[in-house]
Amino acid sequence: MVIDMTRRGASGIRGRLGQLCYSSGLLHPLQRVRAWWQRDLRILAYHRVMPLPDPDTYAFDMELISTPPEEFREQMIRLKRHFRPIRLTDVVAALDAGEALPPDTVAVTFDDGYDDNYHVAAPILAELGVPATFFVSTGHIDTGRPYAYDWLVHMILVTVAPRLVLPELGIDVPLPKERALRRRLAGQVLLRMKWLDALAQTAMTERLEAEWNMPSDYARPFECRPMTWDQVREIEAAGLEIGSHGVHHRMLARLPLDEMEREVRESKATLDRELAQPSILMSYPVGGDRAYNDAVISATRHAGFQLACSYVCGTNPEPSENRYALNRLPVESNMGPGWFAAMLALPQLMSYPTAAHETNGPQVQPCSP
Ligand SMILES: [Zn+2]
Repeated sequence: MVIDMTRRGASGIRGRLGQLCYSSGLLHPLQRVRAWWQRDLRILAYHRVMPLPDPDTYAFDMELISTPPEEFREQMIRLKRHFRPIRLTDVVAALDAGEALPPDTVAVTFDDGYDDNYHVAAPILAELGVPATFFVSTGHIDTGRPYAYDWLVHMILVTVAPRLVLPELGIDVPLPKERALRRRLAGQVLLRMKWLDALAQTAMTERLEAEWNMPSDYARPFECRPMTWDQVREIEAAGLEIGSHGVHHRMLARLPLDEMEREVRESKATLDRELAQPSILMSYPVGGDRAYNDAVISATRHAGFQLACSYVCGTNPEPSENRYALNRLPVESNMGPGWFAAMLALPQLMSYPTAAHETNGPQVQPCSP
């Protein structure tokens, strides 16, 4: 499929403004000016790095594809040229020592642990010498099972069932034939289901698997594969960092307390057992402001983690104050080089906005895939 770069790079006012600053050559001077008064830690958040597939035939969640490989390489080259890439463990060391971070520090992170992280992203990072942290859900690495949200999207896209019936979410609609319409429907289901508690989310997905005879525990789809432990160990040996993204990728704040604590504890125990370095870095699954709370932060600290990332959009002016809920800047596949460069240089202006804390039920929350 041919991608229209001009359209992709210029979606929305931020995209157009970013592209304008980028082409005018103003970005770098603006960044320099900003660095005089703003020394915030920026953390980029990626999921998948893979060629953008044809949405008419690709049967999984397109939203999880952060960037295609060549753009990722260009992004990392830009990062090296104009910023200071930093390891999150070095952020921990600086925080422990009470030292300020130098200006323009940027950490690169990946959530979930898809195998394209190993095949595509890690070699580019190693070649360019850019550090990064991969947050993996240990249960998926153990079993090779597809990630539940991605599998749910897959089921909705390919099922031959005539209707989608989810009483938990107040949904009972005929399933459209066109894949684009099914994608939209699946996106709405994902948004709404994140208002359920985590066990109800699992029960709903498992019921659909049974009703539609699409059990994820037997599925090993090529397009939706977690890394193996050998692959995780290999990227760790290459100098990249591994952190926890829970065991089963559940919304920790939406679990019963003992289950939540077990997810945090067991993910750390597994990582410590399987890898060379002790695990000190955490990223809360889903990560929006409904995915973690004070109890989750407390469990994370007590388990021995020393820093944690949320998926709330933003930078971190004083990371010592939110080291267990660090904001990040999600990279999305519709950004294009101009928007990406502008987001890095001027994150307050150019990143996706964080939705206000919702009180009235589901709404679009672009920062919480
Ligand atoms: Zn995740």
